[in-house]
Amino acid sequence: MSAINFHPSLQHRSHPLASPVAQRHLLAELPLARSFEDAVASTGHAPLRSQTPTVLQMNVGKRCNQVCRHCHVDAGPDRREVMTPEVIAACLRLLATGAIGVVDITGGAPELHPQFREIVREARALGCHVIDRCNLTITQLPDYQDLPEFLAEHEVEVVASLPAYSLKQTEAQRGNGVFDASITALRQLNALGYGQPESGLVLNLVTNPVGAFLPPNQRSLEATWKREMMRRHGIVFNHLYTITNMPISRFLEFLLESGNLEAYMEKLVNAFNPAAIAGLMCRYTLSVGWDGRLYDCDFNQMLEMALPQTIFEVTLADLGDRPIQVAAHCFGCTAGAGSSCGGATAA
Ligand code: SF4
Ligand code: SF4
Repeated sequence: MSAINFHPSLQHRSHPLASPVAQRHLLAELPLARSFEDAVASTGHAPLRSQTPTVLQMNVGKRCNQVCRHCHVDAGPDRREVMTPEVIAACLRLLATGAIGVVDITGGAPELHPQFREIVREARALGCHVIDRCNLTITQLPDYQDLPEFLAEHEVEVVASLPAYSLKQTEAQRGNGVFDASITALRQLNALGYGQPESGLVLNLVTNPVGAFLPPNQRSLEATWKREMMRRHGIVFNHLYTITNMPISRFLEFLLESGNLEAYMEKLVNAFNPAAIAGLMCRYTLSVGWDGRLYDCDFNQMLEMALPQTIFEVTLADLGDRPIQVAAHCFGCTAGAGSSCGGATAA
């Protein structure tokens, strides 16, 4: 399977929204009923501060074999940003302190990074739990067909994105050819033990709405997905995560061009759920960019809302109880049942 030519990156099209500054300005100028800071203050949590991080999320670059319509990274085959060996070494030094036990590797398609397997091996040797945010289709490319075996051998948790259990909705968001390749990949993972009871190999699926609406209830959707994935495709998995589409990057472009931006933001603001604050991923995550800059989360990373320190100089003392940078996009994490890399936070 070759790269899917569906919706080129904003950067490739020299689109104004390729600029994080332009995205931030656009969001800041929207006439919202209240700011995210005010919404958080009404819950008694203001200003939002982090706990000591338990997850190091490494965004190893923006290269991807897909060009999904909703991508918050603006990833694609035309992107060249990849995490440098120096940044990887600094991440591993931080992990070697033993202070952070979970490494969440994301991208782009993280497996395209030439040092992906080295990161996995070394993090596992340090005793870390490793998560691979896999788009599934990567495993069908000629150089990556042994990837499922590698992941199983190193007991890597696979968090795999699949918008829908039907072809039409999946390909509306991710491009032609994605669905069949994803199903093939899931069957291969199942055959290795992933998602099977007692195997210890965890396979979680991530779904996000194909359009400008909030995800349905995660628990009831998971039951439906488990039934339908087995009935239609013979596939088992552990958990379903529902993630709200964030109003940034290519989904922001979609909202703007479809005339849905203000209505979607209003929907997010009106659905603000105070119970989602406690589980916000920024409260326990440290996000590292390809160039070593640090962020509260992957969304802040894409909007270039960086922490003062980089991975080269950060100390453990800097990480706990730090102020979290918030803006209007944060309403995407607190709407309804809440949303994070691990799915709903307040279900
Ligand atoms: S959403 Fe994931 S798979 Fe799709 S283009 Fe972005 S990084 Fe690649
Ligand atoms: S976008 Fe990031 S900083 Fe904002 S609430 Fe969500 S996780 Fe926290």
